[in-house]
Amino acid sequence: MPDQPDYATLEEAAEAAQHCTRCDLYCHATQTVWGEGSPDARLMIVGEQPGDQEDLQGRPFVGPAGDILAEAMERAGLPREKVWMTNAVKHFKFTVKTTARGGKRRLHQNPDRPEIDACHWWLGIEQRFIQPKLTLALGGTAAYALTGRKEGITKRRGKVEETETGSVLLSWHPSYILRVPNRGAADRARAQLLDDLKLAAELVA
Ligand code: SF4
Repeated sequence: MPDQPDYATLEEAAEAAQHCTRCDLYCHATQTVWGEGSPDARLMIVGEQPGDQEDLQGRPFVGPAGDILAEAMERAGLPREKVWMTNAVKHFKFTVKTTARGGKRRLHQNPDRPEIDACHWWLGIEQRFIQPKLTLALGGTAAYALTGRKEGITKRRGKVEETETGSVLLSWHPSYILRVPNRGAADRARAQLLDDLKLAAELVA
């Protein structure tokens, strides 16, 4: 693979990404999950990595976390087809757990920094083709991939950070809302995600 990407179209890059071996995550995942939506989008939404359902279907944000995001996007007036939706890391990272009944479950694992850095190659290509007015980073992995800053997002969410490749608004990843054990905290995070999506809609209007 060359040092600099030289793809004529977004579709050509997407096809090349299907054969990526830049890190080891391709070894066990089903497929590369490329972004989808409008190539003319003014807003790009970036999550962490595909989950179990995304890995099987080959589409971003179609699992339980995607349902939470879809509901919030609808309430914020952001149609999915007008946004470019993708992930910082394009292969599913997981461990396999044997259940009490002897079945298998794939459990999400956080991608590590070298994996995020390796996959930044593809995220950068998506950014160059889409050229969004604003990018919404959902969760710490996307925030790191888009800003290069390693601090967590607790104090950063809801704010826009300027980077060499454009403006980045930070928010919670919807999977965080699923994981929070406390109902009140989950409701607060859900409301904040909605606020951030509404702000994104205003900023790209
Ligand atoms: S996670 Fe990204 S960099 Fe790693 S193999 Fe998959 S597409 Fe390539």
